[in-house]
Amino acid sequence: PVRGPDALLEGLNPQQRAAVEHSGSPLLVVAGAGSGKTRVLTSRIAYLLGARGVHPGQIMAITFTNKAAAEMKERVTALVGPRANVMWVSTFHSMCVRLLRREAKNLDLRSSNFSVYDADDSRRLITLVSRELDLDPKRYPARTLAVHISNLKNELIDPVEAADRAGNDLERRVAEVYTAYQRRLTESNSFDFDDLIMRTVRLLQTRPDVAEHYRRRFRHVLVDEYQDTNHAQYELVRALVGTGGEDGIEPGELCVVGDADQSIYAFRGATIRNIEEFERDYPQARTITLEQNYRSTQTILTAANAVISRNSNRREKRLWTDLGDGDKIVGYVGDNEHDEAAFVASEIDRLVDTGDANFSDIALFYRTNNNSRAFEEVFIRLGLPYRVVGGVRFYERREVRDALAYLRLLSNPDDTVSLRRILNVPKRGIGDRAEACVAAHAERERISFAAALRDAADGKVSLLNPRSQRAIAGFVELTDELRALVTDGKDVAEVLDTVLERTGYRGELEASDDPQDASRVDNLTELITVAREFVQAEASAPEPEEPVIDDAGQPAQGSLEAFLERVSLVADSDQTPDAGDGVVTMMTLHTAKGLEFPVVFCTGWEDGLFPHQRALGDPTELAEERRLAYVGITRARQRLYVSRALVRSAWGQPMANPASRFLDEIPADLVEWKRVEPVRSSAPTSATRWGSNRSQIGGGDSAQAGLGARGMRSTPFKGWQDTPAMKLEVGDRVSHDKYGLGTVVATDGSGPRATATIDFGTGGTVRLMLIGGVPLTKL
Ligand code: ATP
Ligand code: MG
Repeated sequence: PVRGPDALLEGLNPQQRAAVEHSGSPLLVVAGAGSGKTRVLTSRIAYLLGARGVHPGQIMAITFTNKAAAEMKERVTALVGPRANVMWVSTFHSMCVRLLRREAKNLDLRSSNFSVYDADDSRRLITLVSRELDLDPKRYPARTLAVHISNLKNELIDPVEAADRAGNDLERRVAEVYTAYQRRLTESNSFDFDDLIMRTVRLLQTRPDVAEHYRRRFRHVLVDEYQDTNHAQYELVRALVGTGGEDGIEPGELCVVGDADQSIYAFRGATIRNIEEFERDYPQARTITLEQNYRSTQTILTAANAVISRNSNRREKRLWTDLGDGDKIVGYVGDNEHDEAAFVASEIDRLVDTGDANFSDIALFYRTNNNSRAFEEVFIRLGLPYRVVGGVRFYERREVRDALAYLRLLSNPDDTVSLRRILNVPKRGIGDRAEACVAAHAERERISFAAALRDAADGKVSLLNPRSQRAIAGFVELTDELRALVTDGKDVAEVLDTVLERTGYRGELEASDDPQDASRVDNLTELITVAREFVQAEASAPEPEEPVIDDAGQPAQGSLEAFLERVSLVADSDQTPDAGDGVVTMMTLHTAKGLEFPVVFCTGWEDGLFPHQRALGDPTELAEERRLAYVGITRARQRLYVSRALVRSAWGQPMANPASRFLDEIPADLVEWKRVEPVRSSAPTSATRWGSNRSQIGGGDSAQAGLGARGMRSTPFKGWQDTPAMKLEVGDRVSHDKYGLGTVVATDGSGPRATATIDFGTGGTVRLMLIGGVPLTKL
């Protein structure tokens, strides 16, 4: 269903149209938040297909999250139908995995079934390596080494070059670890996240035939959030597009969109330089700026512009909106983090009650993941539905990682990290000593740990006692048996189920009386469900029409490899709820990039928290924090809240943080303060960067109400931490002010952590904290 060119341009403003219609030379769209950059990218793809006769197989589009990729694909499919399926729309990492899989034969790999190591796996491997190198873990923590190695890879520096360049002791150590680590990765047939990019770049740079193949195929390359690409990604795009000089193929059409003011990944090697010097690197490039913001009210926009304008060396932008001034920004100063959270919760409750918003319209941002706790407590207590994006994620739980380690081992027998992770899990008599013997053998013979393990099973490893040898032989046999399931074509859900059964993993958890183990079993059941849904989704996905070039090398549908790929590349932001989920979204500012919500709560705006402690004395870091503030503010469509707490506990100690300097940077007349810092007659510390001079006290709350027992004024929400928890048992009947009558179906925790899961019939099943003050009566 090809639509006319005009229909494809409908609703776009003149600059957006120009960007969609532009052809030939590289195109850079730079524009502030909410100006429709992502929208331009999607429209451009539709236009390429619908009006310029481009084949979907010729398009590669790169987004920052898998979720954004899925949405983009969906929107294009709605416009042009199922032929959109052969487009490559994905994140940089997913795109590279796909390309490397296809090119495994050109990569000097043992098999195309390589594993992808995430940050945790790669830290484990670095720990192993530095132990072998006898490095002092206090002086050289694995975490630090990992950051250094990652930075090198983002700059496309290999171990040899790193060693050459090393100028001081630390750099020499890093190079040493990097060399050994890289050798281990190769032996394990594994790539870490940074390798995915680096190896792809290197492949395209060193193999003209391979590069030519992709240049012929992808005539259109589009990149969203371009300001956050690092050097390696930058080179990747350059290599894919080509310059025309290499092989006589016209360079592909490149379209990148971004906003230098939203560059928030400098710590991961992203450089604003990529945007700022685009025009220099691509001399024929055309630049288009967008100035109309379609997302936010003027009030929100003015606040955002005021804050970001404090950064130096930036291009001034004139962003305007015709959405009107809208409501004022609402400010709140809490006595402590619980009070701040209680305010947020009561506002949300009110907005939903009055019909001004649904739960899914609302997002709550904080600077770092650990800040979610106070909010979660009060949300659970009041029964507000929410989801935390990021933090301790499902895929980071121990049992889930163990299960996935088994699967990875079945797919890639050489995967050392996975193998050593589950070697003795559940316990099967292969102790640390036996493991060390095998590792030493591997080292001596320069073979992979897996190969050494087979030698051990065959009795070829010295110093191994017979009992360990038998245990290892049993283990090798077990994994071989399990691997046969995969070869026999069992789907990944069945394989997983069998693995958990035959290894005794699930049985051990089921037999345990530790309540945590019960929830581990639940998580494994959940993982099987994920696998089953994956298999079904793959089976029902529409067959793509004949692609331009065959897609050999793609994992078979529903296969183990495809599943592992999917789960290993899940990012925090991919778990962002949809409107249909009916929950409030809580996440860090970093994760919020690219998203928008009608109502946004920016919390914890305190110097030391946000901007982060580390940035206080460092202008470069402070500028990055300010860009983060800009990202946060510009996620809001209609309503924006900013809040902070006077005191918050950090490492068990109450800390008094002054107001964030970013609050000062928002023009005072845009903010209506619901509550301000109380005026103290003899304040011991001057935590008042701003105070009575410019704040209006809003609502009935009075800052002069006097200080409570511990120097804090009480609020209707306070004091509950001190009241004893309500005691409930399974089967108890209760009445809740909001949900009505219910029956307790489960209880968990004790003291201030006690919770009960209550079935409220048509009101749903809700888990509530039982700390005093919960509007719940036992009947
Ligand atoms: P960010 O910098 O945050 O990534 P962006 O520049 O990518 O923002 P989009 O997300 O594409 O902006 O657009 C912001 C909002 O404005 C979206 O809801 C989008 O649908 C809407 N929008 C964009 N262009 C138009 C337009 N021409 N008419 C109406 N709405 C538009
Ligand atoms: Mg965008």
